[in-house]
Amino acid sequence: LREELYCIGCGAKIQTENKDELGYTPQSALEKGIENQEVYCQRCFRLRHYNEVADVSLSDDDFLALLNEIGSADALIVNVIDIFDFSGSIIPGLHRFVGKNPILMVGNKEDLLPKSLKRSRLRDWVRQSANAQGLRPIDVVLTSAKKNHEVDNLLELINKYREGRDVYVVGVTNVGKSTLINQIIKHTTGMQDIITTSRFPGTTLDRIEIPLDDGHMLVDTPGIIHQEQMAHYLDPKSLRLASPQKEIKPKVYQLNPGQTLFFGALARFDFIAGPKQGVVVYMENNLMVHRTKTEKADAFYDKHAGKLLTPPGEKQMADFPKLARFEFKVEEKSDLVFAGLGWVTVKAGSIVAGYAPEGVAVLLRKAMI
Ligand code: GDP
Repeated sequence: LREELYCIGCGAKIQTENKDELGYTPQSALEKGIENQEVYCQRCFRLRHYNEVADVSLSDDDFLALLNEIGSADALIVNVIDIFDFSGSIIPGLHRFVGKNPILMVGNKEDLLPKSLKRSRLRDWVRQSANAQGLRPIDVVLTSAKKNHEVDNLLELINKYREGRDVYVVGVTNVGKSTLINQIIKHTTGMQDIITTSRFPGTTLDRIEIPLDDGHMLVDTPGIIHQEQMAHYLDPKSLRLASPQKEIKPKVYQLNPGQTLFFGALARFDFIAGPKQGVVVYMENNLMVHRTKTEKADAFYDKHAGKLLTPPGEKQMADFPKLARFEFKVEEKSDLVFAGLGWVTVKAGSIVAGYAPEGVAVLLRKAMI
């Protein structure tokens, strides 16, 4: 008789029967794992050792069940978002499900935004953006889970606002929730890296409960997939090249109407009409930006995508979705946002178009900076 085993990566119950279900581990790997006191499911194992993702997501039913559980609990809700990809961080319908529970909003990946941007302004921006989604956070904290910035402060605020209740940490995949939970665990119990973290979305499967000092729990819920994120359309290598790793250095491009910028082969910006201007690009510092004439841009893309224009590389282009076009009239200084990739800031009085892989959101918002 053997006690039940759980994957130390994702928390799924280990099983050796069904390859396609959660927690699958080949028998031989299981025995080895037990020997080393480190049992991972195959999925987490591959992720840790080969950086490969298996696509596992919450079904719609599981997602509804999760939201209902949150709504009927008496708890503090901690909603982690990625400030670099706000629109891709929104949990659809969250505001309808939280009930009377307060929401503490965590704007993670603070380290990516220019240091010159005042943090108080950034917090206001997060709050306003949340309000526009129907969310009324009780407070907003900016963190960098990666750099361990403000995690102490976050823990203090959690203790202040939870008032002796449980805490539910929710977020869509890829916002850095696992990294943040790992930091929290380190701060509270000293254990390290018990949760799988990766650049790939959809990796935290089961709820993980962290005991708080008064018998209550901090519950890490599974990441919810937000299909509009760029990350879901990219192969691992392209994703690595397109995701900012460090503070973004904005780049200015002087453009006339009729000019186009390509961001690798991932996205495209057309300046259609308006005053000659310096548009400001906020994307991964090493991502290739290529300028060309709009009238030649279609042919240019067809010829050079995957070769001169990368990422994605030539092989990956075969599976890469076509770019879809969105046109906007800009009434005030605004950001043309490519969800998860970054944005281009343009002046009032411009007409612009943004192109992103079909399925990825392109939207216009009031300029953040
Ligand atoms: P989850 O899917 O929300 O659990 O996200 P992960 O914790 O797996 O993180 C997704 C990606 O974002 C990984 O590549 C992390 O290294 C990265 N990441 C997480 N937190 C931060 C952060 O504070 N700053 C930056 N720059 N990257 C982060």
